Amino acid sequence: MKIFLTSVFALVILSLGAIYSAPANSMTSTIAIGSARINFTVEGGRLGLPQADISEWVRAAAESVATYYGRYPLEQVTIRIAPFDGRGVRNGRTFGENGGFISIYLGNETTAAALKSDWMMTHEMIHLAFPSVADRHHWIEEGISTYVEPIARVRAKHMDEAAMWLELVRDLPQGLPGEGDKGLDRTHSWGRTYWGGALYCFLADVEIHRRTNNHKGLEDALRGILNAGGDIRHEWELEKALSVGDQATGVAVLRPLYDKMKDQPYAVDLAEMWAELGVERNGNTVRFVDAAPLAATRKAITWGNGASANAGSAAAASGGATSHSYPAVVAGRTARSR
Ligand SMILES: [Zn+2]
Repeated sequence: MKIFLTSVFALVILSLGAIYSAPANSMTSTIAIGSARINFTVEGGRLGLPQADISEWVRAAAESVATYYGRYPLEQVTIRIAPFDGRGVRNGRTFGENGGFISIYLGNETTAAALKSDWMMTHEMIHLAFPSVADRHHWIEEGISTYVEPIARVRAKHMDEAAMWLELVRDLPQGLPGEGDKGLDRTHSWGRTYWGGALYCFLADVEIHRRTNNHKGLEDALRGILNAGGDIRHEWELEKALSVGDQATGVAVLRPLYDKMKDQPYAVDLAEMWAELGVERNGNTVRFVDAAPLAATRKAITWGNGASANAGSAAAASGGATSHSYPAVVAGRTARSR
């Protein structure tokens, strides 16, 4: 979830005072990622986890985001981790105020293994890397975080490639337009906000790769926006961000796709796209088909440009296709509020 102060109710403004001032029994640590400093405070409470496991959780998310964007999005960010009774990670929120601020809740019975598979910290940190846009465009903010988070974790080796594609194939249909849909800017359902935004990102990623012969991808557009100063601390017009992204890749994809999806339902044949990319799902397994026409694009989306030859070697050795299975429950990435 991403919140900009001017767009929410006074209730949130009141609660911010409590969020920003950590209680006396809290502990603050700092992680350095390149030149960036990530300060995180674990508020006092009965957390069952060692501090080292919490640090590793924050570091893994920060590494994932820095790997995808080429650097950590902000030079400094403050993270407030508050405990609750139970298991898991909840209620992540990211703010542009105070130079970049994340608030997140961690269950006092959460295991180290569960923290390793957490997506929410990465999702929140990705919000730092895009400017604040008007409320009707909230789908782009959540869509980028939803789409980029697993890819970023794969590239930093904090998530399995097969799990990433399985979840995309399984969950992306939630972003398709339903009955009475009026386009992404005018349909503010949960599915169209999170997964409709992710659908926009996925379509843009495939198209940028197609138009550049896999030399550029969505990350080049998003890095261009970030490097032009478009981070969460600044309010931008969405059209400006998309134009900057298109300039960074050298192909006009983000703006034209936005025009197609902003105010009308836009039909997408996802089954055909999975076949072209060479992703076959069977239950909780995906099989990669390297003879598929866009198999090289699938590898470039997964690993970034220039890494596809390396990533494809294992598949080639086993006869052009690889199978991966993954547990039925993938922690946290289900249909609920982010
Ligand atoms: Zn979010």
